[in-house]
Amino acid sequence: MKITLHSSMCVASGNCGFVAPEVFSNPEDNFGFAQLDDPAPPETQHEAVRSAEYLCPSKAIQVDENDVPAGDQSR
Ligand code: SF4
Repeated sequence: MKITLHSSMCVASGNCGFVAPEVFSNPEDNFGFAQLDDPAPPETQHEAVRSAEYLCPSKAIQVDENDVPAGDQSR
């Protein structure tokens, strides 16, 4: 899984950091706009990431299920 965050589309709803806090955060010093902390998270985070993608009101989160980082087949 590979995640792309289109920051310019983010409306700072905070949904992503709420449902997938290991992957996204919404720092107060960035006015709650999303920050992608782990662009290629482990399997344990995939369900939460899919929820974040689904719940993002501006479709700023793009998830590529098939993009596996080179040398890491466990993700
Ligand atoms: S859910 Fe979408 S709009 Fe809301 S903070 Fe995350 S990326 Fe931004």
